[in-house]
Amino acid sequence: VSFGFSSVDRSEHKGLVKDVFEKVAPKYDAMNDFMSFFLHRHWKDRFVGITLHPFAGQKHLDVAGGTGDVGFRVLREIRRAEEALAVRRNAEVESAGEVCICDINGAMLEEGKKKVAGLDIRDAERGLSWVESDAESLPFDDESFDTYTISFGIRNVSDIDACLSEARRVLKRGGHFCCLEFSQVNNEVLRQVYDLYSMNVIPYIGQAYAGDAHSYQYLVESIRKFPDQEHFKEIIEANGFRGVRYENLLDGVVAIHSGFKL
Ligand code: SAM
Repeated sequence: VSFGFSSVDRSEHKGLVKDVFEKVAPKYDAMNDFMSFFLHRHWKDRFVGITLHPFAGQKHLDVAGGTGDVGFRVLREIRRAEEALAVRRNAEVESAGEVCICDINGAMLEEGKKKVAGLDIRDAERGLSWVESDAESLPFDDESFDTYTISFGIRNVSDIDACLSEARRVLKRGGHFCCLEFSQVNNEVLRQVYDLYSMNVIPYIGQAYAGDAHSYQYLVESIRKFPDQEHFKEIIEANGFRGVRYENLLDGVVAIHSGFKL
């Protein structure tokens, strides 16, 4: 599945995506807050806290991890689980969990690394690794991770099937796949407001604030081309995941899809 891109278009698409995120990287976090009215923070908290359920000693992979927003949240929850476990066992806390943040774009990862020193997370430095790689061909062994997340990233990959197949390969048996992505708005009134905002206001803000309307225009178009909730669920199932379900947030502005490698 590749939104109708031919294989030649795919490499062009990959180049375009790399270029877009290289340009937006320095202002990515601020623009996210600004353009989503801070809502993306709430969505990510929910995604990690409720859907993913981090646990002590977890080995986690966050793909298209950008500046670390989701990876940091996962590590924070893992560390909390490790502390709770230590209290129950009346033992020393063991920082065994690890989060690998992977992205095709080194500029995004560099922005994320700058934030590590300011994180209020025990053994943050030790628990994080940063890997520059394409989601469609991951440099990890089979069955390396307990859990896998991709947040606002899958619509940017050139071949969704290749991305999902790699996700399944690197997950252990029983591993949990969780995806947070913009989706199809169900409510007619909200859809009209949202369309107006995303097609007219976002590229304008992109131009005014980041001096780059084109990149933000691309980001909006990639949302519109992405398959709807049911279709995306079928795509995940077709790639071998089981127990696939989804949940809409804000009437489908974003959706959380999840499934298991059994
Ligand atoms: N996950 C972060 C978040 O939720 O804030 C960043 C999301 S940002 C909208 C999309 C990210 O996907 C960018 O950092 C971009 O570099 C990355 N990306 C795009 N195509 C990719 C690919 N094929 N493989 C890995 N990362 C990719």
